[in-house]
Amino acid sequence: MARLSAALDRIHPSQTLAMTARVAELKRQGVDVIGLSAGEPDFDTPDFVKEAAIAAIRAGKTKYTDVGGTPELKDAIRGKFARENGLDYQASEIIVGVGGKHVIFNAIVATCEAGDEVVIPAPYWVSYPDIVAYSGAKPVIVKAGADQAYKITPEQLDAAITPRTRWVLLNSPSNPSGAAYSADELKALGEVLRRHEHVMLLSDDMYEHIFYADFPFATMAQVCPDLKDRILTENGCSKAYAMTGWRIGYAGGPAWLIKAMAKLQSQSTSNPCSIAQAAAAAALTGPQDFLAERQDAFRTRRDLVVGMLNEAPGLVCPTPEGAFYVYPDASGCIGKTTPEGKRIESDDDLIGYFLDHARVAAVAGAAFGLSPAFRISYATSDALLREACARIQEACAALR
Ligand code: PLP
Repeated sequence: MARLSAALDRIHPSQTLAMTARVAELKRQGVDVIGLSAGEPDFDTPDFVKEAAIAAIRAGKTKYTDVGGTPELKDAIRGKFARENGLDYQASEIIVGVGGKHVIFNAIVATCEAGDEVVIPAPYWVSYPDIVAYSGAKPVIVKAGADQAYKITPEQLDAAITPRTRWVLLNSPSNPSGAAYSADELKALGEVLRRHEHVMLLSDDMYEHIFYADFPFATMAQVCPDLKDRILTENGCSKAYAMTGWRIGYAGGPAWLIKAMAKLQSQSTSNPCSIAQAAAAAALTGPQDFLAERQDAFRTRRDLVVGMLNEAPGLVCPTPEGAFYVYPDASGCIGKTTPEGKRIESDDDLIGYFLDHARVAAVAGAAFGLSPAFRISYATSDALLREACARIQEACAALR
């Protein structure tokens, strides 16, 4: 009889992708729904990147490449790490995967098994616990609510680490909260890691270039260079260069880990797409000025959304320091009743109400491990954001 593996039974389909699919279905049915669930920039891939891909096709760069990435792309990544993060990695310390998700998956699956633990601050990116569970290890969730600006403290980290801890997964700026750790905050967490020599840290820097804090972006290997051998610095082209469909993620880390990840990759995907790799090399070595322009556009939208959501009764929306999400605390809506007579018991209920009543699609905090809250992506036009927030305001005001 057909059966699925135990590893597959331990994971769930991505809830953000599920909501995005539901929005697409409603739109197909002609429903006027505003989808704010997808984690994708609405900007296009820059033309010079597209041109590089076309040139790569014409030059016949259409064959298998080295499993862990072409020498050209590895060079471009080394250059990026040196230029932007002050990090010096050798080519043997760099790997390219099929998106940032793939890089994280390979790192965890190459190093974790049943009996291991992985510390994950919540709210977390939806895929972390599932990737960890797939490996057989146990996700250890550390909650950091709006009252602590969605950031874990050194004391919380220390308390979560046990002899079985393999990794800490840190994402700054965060999906879903937008919270970013300053260099000093990272140093304080690094101090804890120094006391636990068996623990590795994965720094997920995917939103590095969508950053508005009044302090500069920092990453752990940069601020704690003595810990560099225990850190995997992961990043990618998806968000910064609006290249979600090209599927290029990369990481710098100790050579033994990079080698292990490449071994796993060699028996699953092989190399990432050769054409996408050429495009990624162009993105990382080409002009970077458009990043600041896009960041400014995101900042304007952030201010619009934060301002309007804070006027909605029952919502408290902290101001994110980066990424393109807001994560309002919805405690004030729980226990209230909709005009249709349904009691809002959870953020799942609230999101269902927003979809049915206000025709706005968001993702419930339950998906990110910290409730009651929800995530809105503001990577869409100002006009749509204004309309969506007005609908949410009206829906919140209608709760009794
Ligand atoms: N890390 C975080 C925090 C993300 O939000 C995402 C995408 O949503 C990724 C990693 C993976 O990005 P991709 O696999 O699209 O490169």
